[in-house]
Amino acid sequence: MSKVRVRFAPSPTGGLHLGGVRTVLFNYLFAKKNGGEFIVRVEDTDQARFVQGAEEYIFDCLTWCGIKVDESVITGGPFAPYRQSERKELYKTYADKLIADGHAYYAFDTPEEIETMREKRKAEGSGSLQYDAGIRLHMNNSLRLVPQETQALLDAGTPYVIRIKVEPSETISFTDMIRGELHFENANVDDKVLMKADGMPTYHLAVVVDDYLMKISHAFRGEEWLPSAPVHILLWKHLFGLDAMPQWAHLPLILKPDGNGKLSKRDGDRLGFPVYAMDWRDPKINEVTKGFKELGFLPEAFLNMLAMLGWNPGTEQEIFTIKELIEAFSIDRVNKAGAKFDFEKAKWFNHQWIQKLPISSYQLQVKKLLAKQEIIITDDIYFEKVLNLVKERCTLLSDFYEQAGYFFKAPITWDVDAVKPKWNDDKNNFFIGFIEVIKKQANFIATDMEISFKALATEKNIKPGELQLPMRIMLVGSKFGPAVFDIAEMIGKDETISRIQKALSVFEN
Ligand code: GLU
Repeated sequence: MSKVRVRFAPSPTGGLHLGGVRTVLFNYLFAKKNGGEFIVRVEDTDQARFVQGAEEYIFDCLTWCGIKVDESVITGGPFAPYRQSERKELYKTYADKLIADGHAYYAFDTPEEIETMREKRKAEGSGSLQYDAGIRLHMNNSLRLVPQETQALLDAGTPYVIRIKVEPSETISFTDMIRGELHFENANVDDKVLMKADGMPTYHLAVVVDDYLMKISHAFRGEEWLPSAPVHILLWKHLFGLDAMPQWAHLPLILKPDGNGKLSKRDGDRLGFPVYAMDWRDPKINEVTKGFKELGFLPEAFLNMLAMLGWNPGTEQEIFTIKELIEAFSIDRVNKAGAKFDFEKAKWFNHQWIQKLPISSYQLQVKKLLAKQEIIITDDIYFEKVLNLVKERCTLLSDFYEQAGYFFKAPITWDVDAVKPKWNDDKNNFFIGFIEVIKKQANFIATDMEISFKALATEKNIKPGELQLPMRIMLVGSKFGPAVFDIAEMIGKDETISRIQKALSVFEN
């Protein structure tokens, strides 16, 4: 096998959908498994859809995911430039060759003429409204015009596009690494535009030319590109020969949670979960769409979860590091069927990864998160102890605020409703007595505290179970958290006493 070279070829048109990151991941895993190279090529030939900042954002997402790119607009490489708009001049030669060989033609039709053609075909009840073999000889193009007429139009600077000439009687076949043998009837394929009036190639021509020039060996992309494959195969056949063509792999779609169609950004908004890798601010409408990163996902968990959307290792193992994924990945285990997105499962992966990774790998992010809530960490050893104590309760990094905040800041509100109905003087007196007991405790440790707490409860004839919830609410403000005496030990004697006193004054009223 020649050197494995794969590419991710995003168009900078907006935020990076998780399906896009999954395409990146499968490209990357395949390349690294086979000692190959991973290339990112920016496909920005559609000026109308270009969005400022989208390219930079895509690279930021890859950096967050920890995916190393071998060749790109950022890293450079032997096949630069890696941005198609900077390769503009190059595509015309190939379009000219197609025309010279009779596989493409000039079309001078105005948008209005094309619209009229569609209307006419519709009125005639034609099965196709496309610009294809059935209509092209009635249109304003170099197939119908005599060469002198065409030349005259070109000389006069008449705007034109170049279209591929699809022979309707042919069938196109190719082998997809995931789907096997595929056949397409040319009769259903239209004469797609290859070069636009602005002198830019369309995606169809540019993708084929660049995959050839950049020596791409395998092309992974989403299933939504399958309908474009016949045109690409034809271009390969006419320009470079089918032997030079990369092997194709059309990845299964990522579906809505109910399995009904492709997961869209709108589904995320509707169902309350992110669909983009990172927060994306659309500069046109100045609106932010939420991303997994900012919601509190770890990149390790995000990639692990994505790997399982459409691929399986054939074993029960679910948690994989990127290294293990490279090791285990095989294209034979990528499914044909779409993969349903399950946000609960995504969170499960994140919870697993919060437990698995050393705290040092996300400590800084949690620190920043807490700082936003005005909790400034000054003692790193204490901070680490707190994180260890509460991480089991955190599914998202953002959960650390709720789960850890009270270790740094005394509560200012209390779940009084959980205490009040059963509150009485005996309980009040118990806590006044307990303050005196702990004041005398030389070692302020959880086990000792628990023993004296229970002893005092027995002495006062109250069930310890009835006192633990109030104690928790005094220290935390609400009902959750790790073992209550562990919390007390962590915050220390003075703070424990002060919180009990403060809460008692609130419970009394
Ligand atoms: N530029 C296309 C996109 O935006 C790439 C499709 C392909 O990989 O061929 O997804």
